[in-house]
Amino acid sequence: MSDKHVYFFGDGKAEGNASMKNLLGGKGANLAEMNLIGVPVPAGFTITTEVCTVYNDKGRDYTVDLIKSEVEAKIKETEEAMNAKFGSKGEAFPLLLSVRSGARVSMPGMMNTVLNLGMNDETVKLVAEKSGNERFAWDSYRRFIQMYGDVVMGVEAEDGKHDPFEIEIDKLKEAKGYELDTEFTPEDLKTLVEKFKKVVHDRTGDDFPTNPWDQLWGAVCAVFDSWNTERAIYYRQMHQIPAEWGTAVNVQAMVYGNMGKNSATGVAFTRDAATGEDIFNGEYLIDAQGEDVVAGVRTPQEITVEGSRRWAKRAGVSEDDRKAKYPSLEEAMPEIYKELDATQQKLEDHYSDMQDLEFTIQDGKLWILQTRNGKRTGSAMVRMAVEMLDQGMIDEKTALLRQEADKLDELLHPVFEKKALESATVITKGLPASPGAATGRVVFFANDAEEWKNRGEEVVLVRQETSPEDLKGMHVANGILTARGGMTSHAAVVARGMGKCCVSGAGDVRVDYEGRTFKVGDRVVKEGDWISLNGSTGEVYEDKVATVNPELSGNFAKIMELAEKYTKMYVRTNADTPHDAQVARDFGAKGIGLCRTEHMFFEGERIIAVREMILAEDEEGRRKALAKLLPMQREDFEGILEAMDGFGVTIRLLDPPLHEFTPNDEASQEEMAKELGVPADVVKSKVESLHEFNPMLGHRGCRLGNTYPEITEMQARAILEAAVNLKKKGKDPRPEIMVPLIGTVEELKLQKEIIDRIANKVFEEKGESIDYLVGTMIEIPRAALTADKVAEVAEFFSFGTNDLTQMTYGYSRDDAGKFLPIYLNKGILKNDPFQVLDQEGVGQLVQMGTEKGRSSNAKLKVGICGEHGGEPSSVKFCGTVNMDYVSCSPFRVPIARLAAAQSAIELDK
Ligand code: PEP
Ligand code: MG
Repeated sequence: MSDKHVYFFGDGKAEGNASMKNLLGGKGANLAEMNLIGVPVPAGFTITTEVCTVYNDKGRDYTVDLIKSEVEAKIKETEEAMNAKFGSKGEAFPLLLSVRSGARVSMPGMMNTVLNLGMNDETVKLVAEKSGNERFAWDSYRRFIQMYGDVVMGVEAEDGKHDPFEIEIDKLKEAKGYELDTEFTPEDLKTLVEKFKKVVHDRTGDDFPTNPWDQLWGAVCAVFDSWNTERAIYYRQMHQIPAEWGTAVNVQAMVYGNMGKNSATGVAFTRDAATGEDIFNGEYLIDAQGEDVVAGVRTPQEITVEGSRRWAKRAGVSEDDRKAKYPSLEEAMPEIYKELDATQQKLEDHYSDMQDLEFTIQDGKLWILQTRNGKRTGSAMVRMAVEMLDQGMIDEKTALLRQEADKLDELLHPVFEKKALESATVITKGLPASPGAATGRVVFFANDAEEWKNRGEEVVLVRQETSPEDLKGMHVANGILTARGGMTSHAAVVARGMGKCCVSGAGDVRVDYEGRTFKVGDRVVKEGDWISLNGSTGEVYEDKVATVNPELSGNFAKIMELAEKYTKMYVRTNADTPHDAQVARDFGAKGIGLCRTEHMFFEGERIIAVREMILAEDEEGRRKALAKLLPMQREDFEGILEAMDGFGVTIRLLDPPLHEFTPNDEASQEEMAKELGVPADVVKSKVESLHEFNPMLGHRGCRLGNTYPEITEMQARAILEAAVNLKKKGKDPRPEIMVPLIGTVEELKLQKEIIDRIANKVFEEKGESIDYLVGTMIEIPRAALTADKVAEVAEFFSFGTNDLTQMTYGYSRDDAGKFLPIYLNKGILKNDPFQVLDQEGVGQLVQMGTEKGRSSNAKLKVGICGEHGGEPSSVKFCGTVNMDYVSCSPFRVPIARLAAAQSAIELDK
């Protein structure tokens, strides 16, 4: 850790810069950088993320001691840059501060902020006097007490609903007969300040701190504390942000958008965050503070004339009304707008990426408070990268690296069926806050969303407006509908980040939380009713509207084309049906990496034949049953090999524990007994004899094929006959037969002998032969450890990281759900190892297995077919060990293709 803990920025100078995100957080690094490129930014300083770690380890007193003199020096520099004084006693304008969090990556709304810091009974009078605006001064003071009281002193609603400060506001409004907060006079605000102080005292037993320095340390520590709130931890888990990163604290001079009609505040995007269109856009409010825009309390106006016209059209507002009541910033403050437009262009050019900026206009002067790479939807991400590539702003590799593999997922998901939409009833319209189609049953509380989802319901979360507490509910819901809030409201920003469909600001919606209904005019929608949301148009429909899969052309195709150009690994799919194989092929899969044959056994007459085989007394009985299965399997394989014609198709021999196929209830046992012509007792006792205490480690995988070789014989025959039949029809089938769950090379050898023997027989019978490979899954640690021996027999390896993870950790795949969430919560595990490959442990076996295998068989083909084959970080790991391919479920194929290309580019650097 360095000796420097606090970095100044302001007045065109800065001690940090954009490359220092790890130390200064994203916000701090960009505030420094903006100063360096001549963008007007209020002065201030950043306390580093390293200090947050010290704070978490050693506590408050130690930390304050460590940075005290540095902070005091930086306050001096800030005073000079802003020509103001912290804790002024009348000699200068009081310096008021904002104190905000700022982690390496932005975590919108997750951590604490305090504004107007430095206010007390003396400074408020100076602010009133020097600004000539008494109302503004007292309004800022009461906002400060409210925010500091909540964030630092912990005064909040006891029941989660009735904020004690808001209760005072409402009481005063009622007493005075006011409708809006803006009607408060300076005298009213003074009354509120006194009442707020009393609330703080009553609730905490402490006086509200009047010394600005005490206020400052309280706020700085509160920001550090907010790194470890439940919601911040949950957000980190969701986005895989390590707890060690910590947050920086940005202390910055306040500028005011609420100093009257010549002031404003807003949020802007250099391109459209929802669609990716290259169009400057955003929202602002005259005479307001920044929080008013994002909190969605007042519905903001558009920045550009074009945006404003689009908005008016959607909202059904006439052009005259629009101009008079809701003018754009471009119309209301044309000079400032020009400066803002030039600044946004400068920032986008400088960062070569879409920026999300916050600005404030204080009495006719523009200040930029923040810039960051804007969050965007999956389709906007793709479109922006392709267009920026065309505009010469970025190169191909950057375009690829900018794609978040997981976000592509959004593009692969359904949209509403055109036909179904024609007959669907629109009940209301809000803002198209985050695109996509969602349908589900209405719930009003985040907790209910979780509960309903857990019991298997599809839900849409409907709220007046959302707040960070609703995060978990938003995460599990299919979509989010809010009555209030603009395109930059909490709901909109968070939903876009999650890639979740969201309609916000549907002003006609009246939510009745107590009655668990919402009303649109006379129509009442109850909890549990189905609704559908179109996040791309803002429409809200009654009932469930059917959806279809999206078309993957245009910009998406371009990104996939680039991925193809740079990737070194290719991508296969895990598929057991011709339909899935075709879907995956359309997504660019080059073959099948895993066809689980047991999945072909579960239906109709097949299950009966399978049961007959399992329950058979002897080999003869088994062979009889297998003969019934042969033609069905052959047909299955023909379908799959044909769908993947010209590409390798890895077909795995039967794997599952036998008891999965046995009839377990009495009725099906009786039915089976009839079928076999034996008494029900015989079936029952056979089923009992097959019971295993630990089936995951029991009679499964190649243990079946080695104890009952006739199963392998039948499957090998079905595969090879199917392939020969196709070849005779002029096709190009390429079967690869895979032996599951081997731990010793002998297990593989015996299975290979059977397969080769059957192959020769089939080729002789048919008078035609084909090329085929025999290989194995590597999913038992012993197989990885002895991979050099195994590779002398195997022509390919496919890492079955589901079982390999199970057996390396010793966590049962079937039972780990009971303790994994607790392990994740306690930080014992960073990720669920069944989802994200454990590179440190399981990864060693994968790497060793690959290297050892290739050491004895240079031609060995190596891939992965566990669930990890579609998870971006795991795919990248596969790239580092030089696998030939990864295999994943059909809808993950594009994601894996992208991750594979990114891996190749990153390794090349
Ligand atoms: C594996 O174990 O990773 C694998 C792909 O096989 P299954 O999930 O069918 O056990
Ligand atoms: Mg397995």
